[in-house]
Amino acid sequence: MNTASPLSARPSMLKKPSAHPPPGERSASAAPSPSPPRRGPSSDHWALPPDSPLRAASGPIRPKSAPRPPVSKVVREHFCYRCGTPWLDQFANCTSCGASDRGVDEARPLHSVEGDTKLFPGPWQMVPWPRQGAVVLAGGPGSGKSSLSALIRPTLWLTKEQQPKPVGEMFRRLLPPECVPVVTVVNSAEDVRNALSKISYGPVVVDSLTALGLKEGLAAGLAVVEWARRRNDRALAICQVITSGDMAGYNQIPHLFDAVIFTSADPQGVRRMQVTKSRWSALGASYWSFDGDGRIDTPDFDASYSVEGKPGNYYLHPFPVRGAKWAGMLGVAAESGDLRPGYASAAVAADYMPNGFLFPTDIYERQHFAERHGLAWLSPSDIEDRDGD
Ligand SMILES: [Zn+2]
Repeated sequence: MNTASPLSARPSMLKKPSAHPPPGERSASAAPSPSPPRRGPSSDHWALPPDSPLRAASGPIRPKSAPRPPVSKVVREHFCYRCGTPWLDQFANCTSCGASDRGVDEARPLHSVEGDTKLFPGPWQMVPWPRQGAVVLAGGPGSGKSSLSALIRPTLWLTKEQQPKPVGEMFRRLLPPECVPVVTVVNSAEDVRNALSKISYGPVVVDSLTALGLKEGLAAGLAVVEWARRRNDRALAICQVITSGDMAGYNQIPHLFDAVIFTSADPQGVRRMQVTKSRWSALGASYWSFDGDGRIDTPDFDASYSVEGKPGNYYLHPFPVRGAKWAGMLGVAAESGDLRPGYASAAVAADYMPNGFLFPTDIYERQHFAERHGLAWLSPSDIEDRDGD
């Protein structure tokens, strides 16, 4: 490993939590106990009633081993009491806000942290990504998952899919040389955990959970999610999709992550990044394409489109290609000679309506979706004005 990288491990600084909390530490468990535990009736729970026939036969009966609650190793976590940022033991102050007040398993985060949320370029603009956030990105072969993942400029790229050299080629094509991450080959969840334990900051990408196998993939997913939470950083896991278009691997994987994103090419060959789950932003989709040099670019939409699909799953359907549900206004505008490329709408022609159209109830979301892709929104007044002349 290149020791000059940001990945320099500092195991010596990782000390075990002290038995005596430092001054300023709040603990939910530090409150004085109200009274010593009393020996209640439960201690004689297994004794038989004095008149029990069994008592006469065999004396007091107790089970050979009383049931005990399972012993679990509880890991206490430290948080900045002021802003809620996870607090690693090697730091004397909160790494986000500088406060010195630390809570054990608790915080009262009255203060927000400046610059906690990051907007990465390209289609990532639709996902404001806060620290502690973990994203899973799924797509088929050649859907551009790796290129999209490179745009978040990871410091560490954990790979099972590709050798380091092609990963490096991809990064050099997309980004300046200083953005090429350390590439670590992983073959198991243990390898992932080991690599994560050695780095100071991210983001990190693992490519891919699917290639690690079912069980190892799930465990690796859990490892990167926990790493992002505890290290107050960002992690991205890549997954393949199965034939149905669903994410490969165990069903728990999407539940682990804060955001679930699919990338695919639509029937016109334009690439679409679709957010199907997000704790931080609205669901929706964004289009993108590769330019001649293989860089990620905004696609040109040189037709007029109806906005089809369900909320969170919109897509642009070119007019007059068959299969559109909401292309009514485009049809009317085309007949009257008013339609030009670059327009979008979502309406069905309906003579009984005052303005001649019936609109989907999520019309404003559809409009926002079209306008985000650089299209002009066509409304009934654009057609009526011309009809009225
Ligand atoms: Zn803080």
